[in-house]
Amino acid sequence: MAKCLCCGRELSTSRCAYCGLREVIALDDSGLRKSQIDADAYKESLISKITDIRLQAYEYDDNLNYKGTSAVRIADGKTCFGRYVSCAETFQGVDNAAVIAKPRVITLLYKFDGKERKTTCTIRLPKCKDNWTFEAKLCENLTFSIRTGTKSIHTEQDNISLDLT
Ligand SMILES: [Zn+2]
Repeated sequence: MAKCLCCGRELSTSRCAYCGLREVIALDDSGLRKSQIDADAYKESLISKITDIRLQAYEYDDNLNYKGTSAVRIADGKTCFGRYVSCAETFQGVDNAAVIAKPRVITLLYKFDGKERKTTCTIRLPKCKDNWTFEAKLCENLTFSIRTGTKSIHTEQDNISLDLT
């Protein structure tokens, strides 16, 4: 089965269901090269439309009472394509086993072509007493990877799909 030249997913129709690239049947090598150049340009335009990636953080007071949410900015798609970029804020280290054992659902916010989008994923907090940070990467296949922790201790979550429609 043919693969999308932009995001690498298998194509079941002539238009990629994930990234929207239309498959053009190449008749020879030069046609294929041209298709790849067009797909690369398409991908670059998609990446530049992904902006303002943010983590929705939940705020608690000192008694662990929920106070509300705030958005912590991470990067634009272009800035974090192929590399992890960390948000500016750091979060308090946790070494309480019960707290760490509990998976957490987090919300990532981003804009695609100016439209507000969000996705959720499940993370585990790293076991470290040091303050930790949150990093995001836009991967080659146009999904997010996120990392929580410090440089030496962290947990990762890959293949978080985006809505590119
Ligand atoms: Zn695709």
